[in-house]
Amino acid sequence: MSIPFNKPYLTGKEAHYMYKAVFAGHLSGNGEYTKKCQAFFQERYGFKKCLLTTSGTDALEMCAMLCDLKPGDEVIIPSYTFVSSALAFLREGAKVVFADSMKRNPNLDAEAIEALITPRTKVIVPVHYAGVACDMDRIMEIAEKHNLLVVEDAAQAIDSYYRSPVTGNPFPLGSIGHLAAFSFHETKNITAGGEGGLLVVNDERFIRRAEILWEKGTNRAEFFRGAVNKYGWVDMGSSFLPAEINAAFLWAQLENLDEIQNKRKALWETYYKLLKPLADKGYFQLPDIPEYATNNAHMFYLVFPSLEKRTALIQHLRENDIMAVFHYLSLHSSQYYKDKHDGRELPECDRYADTLVRLPMYYDLEIEDVERICLVIQAMYSV
Ligand SMILES: *Cc1c(COP(=O)(O)O)cnc(C)c1O
Repeated sequence: MSIPFNKPYLTGKEAHYMYKAVFAGHLSGNGEYTKKCQAFFQERYGFKKCLLTTSGTDALEMCAMLCDLKPGDEVIIPSYTFVSSALAFLREGAKVVFADSMKRNPNLDAEAIEALITPRTKVIVPVHYAGVACDMDRIMEIAEKHNLLVVEDAAQAIDSYYRSPVTGNPFPLGSIGHLAAFSFHETKNITAGGEGGLLVVNDERFIRRAEILWEKGTNRAEFFRGAVNKYGWVDMGSSFLPAEINAAFLWAQLENLDEIQNKRKALWETYYKLLKPLADKGYFQLPDIPEYATNNAHMFYLVFPSLEKRTALIQHLRENDIMAVFHYLSLHSSQYYKDKHDGRELPECDRYADTLVRLPMYYDLEIEDVERICLVIQAMYSV
C-alpha cells in the first residue's frame, strides 16, 4: 500500500459543526464558532488578542500592515522559508533583507542578525521551522536594543513552546513577539477545512487597528461593542475574516488538539528511535530540537551530506511507494527576488534547500507504517 506524504486530519465532527453553523443562520465571519476558536487560543496560550483569518498568508499580511512600514524600511527574514513570510512585507513596500539559517537547524541564526541591522531596519521575522522555536531570548534582546518589532511566523508552530534558559519557563510560540501568524492549511497539524489562519496580537498598541484592518477598514467591531454609535471607513483594510463554516471546521479540530498532538508525537518518536542508529553512522542528520525548544511533531525531516544522497533516498522510497519530499528553495536566489537581493551568500540556507527531506507525517499514519518506512530506509544502507 502506498504511503502519501500528507493527509489532512478529520475528527468526524467537522461536517456536524458546519451543518450547525449553516442552520444557525449566520454564514459570514465573526459568528459563534469564530468567537469560540479565538477564545480557545486566548485561554489556552495566553495570546492577548486573536483574530481568525482566511489563511496564514493573510495573517502575515495583517502583521505587515500593522508594522506600518514606510518605503525603504527593512525587514529581516530567513531565506529558508515559505514565500508568504517575505511576500507579506514586500507588498507593503518594505525591503526584505534575507538572513541565513543556523548550522544546527534551519531556523534563523540569531547571532547573524545584528550584522544586518541598519538605521532603516524595522522588523525581524523569526520563522519557527518545523514548529521548533527560534532562539527567542536572543532575538527579543536584539529587537529591544534596536527598537524593532518582532513578528513570529508561527505557521507550523501550533502547540509548541520556547523554554527560557534563564527562568526555565515555557512560553507558547506566538506569544513572544509583538505579533504572530499561524496557519491552518491542510498541510499543518490542524486545519480550518483546507485554508485558514490566525493573527495573534500580543502588544496592546496594535489591537484596535488589527480589528479595523480585519473588518475591511471599518470600525465595525467598536460599533458592535456599543463604543461608537455608527460605523464607517476609518483606515486601510481587507477581507481577512473567514466564513463561519471554516471556523466550525476548525472548532472540531481544536476539540481534539491534544489527541492529534499525542499521536503525532508518538509517530515522531518512533521515527527518531528507529533512524538514530543510521544517523549515528553519519548517513544523515535527525531533526534538531534545541534545549530551549519543545517539539510539536509538525514535521520529521532528515538532512543529508549531499544533494545526490538525498535524491537517492527520495528515489528509493518512491520505488517502495513511500512519498518523501524536499522543502524550500532559497528565496534570495528565487526567480522573483534574485535581482533584488544584495548578493550576500547564504550557504546554510542553500545547504538545506539541497539536502533536507521530509518523511510522511500525518495523524492517520500508523506506528506500523513508520516502522515499515524505517525498514525501507535501513535496507538502503545495509550491505
Ligand atoms: C504554511 C506556511 C505559511 C502560509 O500559510 P497559508 O495558510 O498556507 O497561507 C507561511 N509561512 C510558513 C512558514 C508556512 O509553513
